[in-house]
Amino acid sequence: MTEHFTGSFTQQDPIPEAGIDAALAVLRHGRLHRYNTAGDEVAETALLEREFADYVGSQYCLAVASGGYAMATALRALDVGPGDKVLSNAFTLAPVPGAIASVGATPIFVGVTEDLTIDLDDLEAKLPQARVLLLSHMRGHICDMDRLMAMCDAAGVDVIEDCAHTMGGSWNGVPSGRHGVFGCYSCQTYKHVNSGEGGFIVTDDPHLAAKSIMLSGSYMLFERHLAGPPKEAFDNIKFHTPNVSGRMDNLRAAILRPQLADIAAQCARWNERYHTLEDGLRDTPGLTLINRPDAEEIVGSSIQFLLLDWAASAVQDVIARCAARGVELKWFGAPDPVAFTSRYDSWRYAPSEPMAASDRILAGVVDMRVPLTFTLEDCALIARIIRAEVSSVYQSA
Ligand SMILES: *Cc1c(COP(=O)(O)O)cnc(C)c1O
Repeated sequence: MTEHFTGSFTQQDPIPEAGIDAALAVLRHGRLHRYNTAGDEVAETALLEREFADYVGSQYCLAVASGGYAMATALRALDVGPGDKVLSNAFTLAPVPGAIASVGATPIFVGVTEDLTIDLDDLEAKLPQARVLLLSHMRGHICDMDRLMAMCDAAGVDVIEDCAHTMGGSWNGVPSGRHGVFGCYSCQTYKHVNSGEGGFIVTDDPHLAAKSIMLSGSYMLFERHLAGPPKEAFDNIKFHTPNVSGRMDNLRAAILRPQLADIAAQCARWNERYHTLEDGLRDTPGLTLINRPDAEEIVGSSIQFLLLDWAASAVQDVIARCAARGVELKWFGAPDPVAFTSRYDSWRYAPSEPMAASDRILAGVVDMRVPLTFTLEDCALIARIIRAEVSSVYQSA
């Protein structure tokens, strides 16, 4: 009998009951705007920021409207503007070059390795071309952060980490987002906490934290932050920093706080699923699993593998056969963007040179979401389906 999978690749867990109760309380009192507080009430958003800062171990945290907004704000706070160049990953998703374009800057794309991390040799060669790196830990793969930070520090390049896929992950015990000058996170539905839309910016730098808060639209209410810098940090900037509104609201914060309290357990659930898939795919002829170094603490909310040096038509065949059995795979080698998936040369507003070594990898990258609504049995079944279809296409090639 041919096995089929019938689950949904886009269905996340429901919001925890505690989050629903907290959201109803906010709806009932009606004070959704973060600076709309009664008496000495502390807003849900301010509480969430304090809790997130404690979670990642940062001095400061600002909750904002999206992960893309977080990255654009970090760039603005570092005075990146029109005409500037920003180093970034060739292998990432559209909000990353989009954040760079939103401040009028242009990306310099850095290649990708077979580990699906940024190519540090390529980065080293390109470091003199910019003073900021927007580093995307794409699909949760964390590069050798010790080497990367040593190189960037030596070159005077500031690092902004895009942790949209690594909230809860770490390198050598240091949480993702805590190596660079800024860490940016997303709370969009498909990430590790879900408020529909939302994001965080963390930093230890009081000046940059103050600028970020002003940029996000604090007006002169910046003292109502529990995870903000002392008010002196605003003295020299408060009349010079434009308001580019992108605050988080108390409704989203109320939904997020119970999720944050539970995130370690959720990450462990993702990893059980990831390892079940990985074990099921191991030693499939023609399929390369992605190496995960010991220093990397992963959050397996998605899984990738390579069909390296396969003909495009054979990869498409695998994707179609898996789809026919209910398994939704994404391919980074497609010539045009499909749904959320795109490539560096799809972003026509950001000029790029062809990168042969990276193109070879991207042409083989297959990606799959792992929502927590999947059981471990689901993951074992999905792995059997992929294994069977990859094997049969590989053998007939
Ligand atoms: C989702 C995502 C972001 C942030 O996205 P928002 O939808 O703006 O929250 C940033 N980088 C990557 C790689 C992403 O996938």
